[in-house]
Amino acid sequence: MGDTIFGKIIRREIPADIVYEDDDVLAFRDLNPQAPVHLLFVPKKPIATLDGATPADAELLGKVLLAAAAYARREGLADQGYRTVINCNEYGGQTVFHLHLHLLAGRQMHWPPG
Ligand code: IMP
Repeated sequence: MGDTIFGKIIRREIPADIVYEDDDVLAFRDLNPQAPVHLLFVPKKPIATLDGATPADAELLGKVLLAAAAYARREGLADQGYRTVINCNEYGGQTVFHLHLHLLAGRQMHWPPG
């Protein structure tokens, strides 16, 4: 799997509204938000899909999840609640093949998702 738009954002080759960064994780606002808060947390290492993750990625995936949870707590989103989503491949609705965690907040979520 080749480079993606998220790789370009990580390397600052194209602009993004970045809200969080550490050594392993970058988070930025989704271009087409589906909730009042819609962020994407991405590992800087380009894992294409959750299906392509390996046990060697366990710590990194944990960091992505914990970065999102810490952001939500810091920004006061956790009490009302929020949703995290990882889409995988075609039926999962994945369109960008650089693994990313959606963080959606600021409205009531529904179940099941579409
Ligand atoms: P997926 O469908 O789970 O792969 O999610 C990809 C997400 O990336 C979608 O919600 C898009 O709106 C978002 N997206 C695509 N290109 C950009 C961009 O350049 N900046 C920010 N978000 C983007």
